[in-house]
Amino acid sequence: MTYVIAEPCIDVVDRACVDECPVDCIYEGERALYIHPDECIDCGACEPVCPVQAIFYEDDLPDQWAEYQTDNARFFTDPLPGRSNPLVSPGGAAKIGPLGIDTALVNAHPGQLP
Ligand code: SF4
Ligand code: SF4
Repeated sequence: MTYVIAEPCIDVVDRACVDECPVDCIYEGERALYIHPDECIDCGACEPVCPVQAIFYEDDLPDQWAEYQTDNARFFTDPLPGRSNPLVSPGGAAKIGPLGIDTALVNAHPGQLP
């Protein structure tokens, strides 16, 4: 089981959740952050600090954002636009820093800032 970052994070990316994660499993793309589903220990520490309520336990993910569960995993396992090799299990976000790329789902989002 894992927590998932959904659509409201897109273009917000304030990183408040990153500071709370005891296992450093929240990775930064360009327009959103992604939780590694195998590294997350389900502690829930990130969920209440998100200013836009983008983080959900996977069983509580609203239906309209269900695809973000697969998409968070896809960020690590699939080739992405701008990256041919998957990350798989990098074992800590701080050491690799912002990755500067996103999944196709996030890339296709029209944006939600004025
Ligand atoms: S639930 Fe805990 S381990 Fe999982 S991403 Fe949030 S803070 Fe990190
Ligand atoms: S706290 Fe919420 S909006 Fe901020 S980076 Fe994390 S998931 Fe995104």
